[in-house]
Amino acid sequence: MLEFVCNTLPSRVIFGEGTSARLPEEVERLGLQRALVLATPSRKPDAECLAAILGTRSAGVLATAVMHTPANVTEAALAVVAKLGVDGLVAVGGGSTTGLSKAIALRTDLPQIIIPTTYAGSEMTPSVGETKDGVKTTQRSPRVLPEVVIYDVERTLSLPVALSASSGMNAIAHAVEALYARDRNPVAMLMAEEGVRAFAQALPRILANPVDREARAEALYGAWLCGICLGSVSMAIHHKLCHVLGGLFNLPHAQTHTVILPHATAFNAPAAPDAMARLARALGVATDAALGLRELAGRLGCPHALCDLGMPESGIDQAVTLTLRNAPWNPVPMEAEAVRELIRRAWRGNPPAAASQR
Ligand code: NAD
Repeated sequence: MLEFVCNTLPSRVIFGEGTSARLPEEVERLGLQRALVLATPSRKPDAECLAAILGTRSAGVLATAVMHTPANVTEAALAVVAKLGVDGLVAVGGGSTTGLSKAIALRTDLPQIIIPTTYAGSEMTPSVGETKDGVKTTQRSPRVLPEVVIYDVERTLSLPVALSASSGMNAIAHAVEALYARDRNPVAMLMAEEGVRAFAQALPRILANPVDREARAEALYGAWLCGICLGSVSMAIHHKLCHVLGGLFNLPHAQTHTVILPHATAFNAPAAPDAMARLARALGVATDAALGLRELAGRLGCPHALCDLGMPESGIDQAVTLTLRNAPWNPVPMEAEAVRELIRRAWRGNPPAAASQR
């Protein structure tokens, strides 16, 4: 019998090519007078360009965002916000920049306009993960949900092919876990399938031609759908593992998701046959969804092993302990030896194996 609870998150989404030119009207619509434009250090020119088009409504640029939202970066940013009398935030970049914006909004309730330039999906979620002393903690609050999201295909054209591929796999991971989430609902499942389909079709085309605008638009559309999945239903073993590994060893976020995803999918496959069938259909593969994910990642030239991302083998036990602490619900119960074996296989770059085959 069909039974579900469906929470729809409020946010205004503007999607297209060249849409960031509409930033001034969105800033005006929110009544902002002093918007601070955030970026990572390497994307500072993007932020300067947006600050320029905001003219007198810009309070300046802060290009200090880094991955995993370290507490010290947020504290320094809060001091800048107070000093400049900032009344709103504009974040142009990937999940790291969105993370900084959310961390500031969590403490100030400032309105946010996010212009995503990767496929991470953070812009569609009411949660923020922050890192202190190697431990990443996630908080969920309506305060961090952006008021406006401007998806501008043009701003994704510069995303390097390797990062486009792993960022796309990161987005697919949100959809995969939405398909077997305990609190899944029919709308999220439709979005998940459509998001995976969009990426499975777009990513190989982006690999062949990184400035294929149609493929970039398809991928960004997929990112939006997968981001909604992440924001609206509960995630399980895959996200917990990536969260722990990223915080503990400062691993690159999207690449870590890419390595773990086939393993987490195989781990859960025996208990989630319907999700696996939907996933295989969306990926366009005839049989095993987990192998289909590994094959897609391989075709895109993504890394297969955590050891290649800089995780020390000696860290596996600590990762298991932290993963099992406050473990989320998972279709297959998370037992220490099975989780250790999953991480070991991912560390070595072995093909995925279902929990029952270990
Ligand atoms: P990122 O934002 O760190 O970007 C990776 C690199 O790519 C950076 O150096 C960035 O400057 C560069 N970059 C971004 N867009 C570019 C573009 N268009 N052209 C060229 N270079 C570009 O990486 P990410 O994977 O998008 O985000 C990872 C972070 O986001 C992690 O901290 C993760 O925890 C967080 N995240 C949070 C959520 C959430 O819901 N809270 C969801 C997803 C990710």
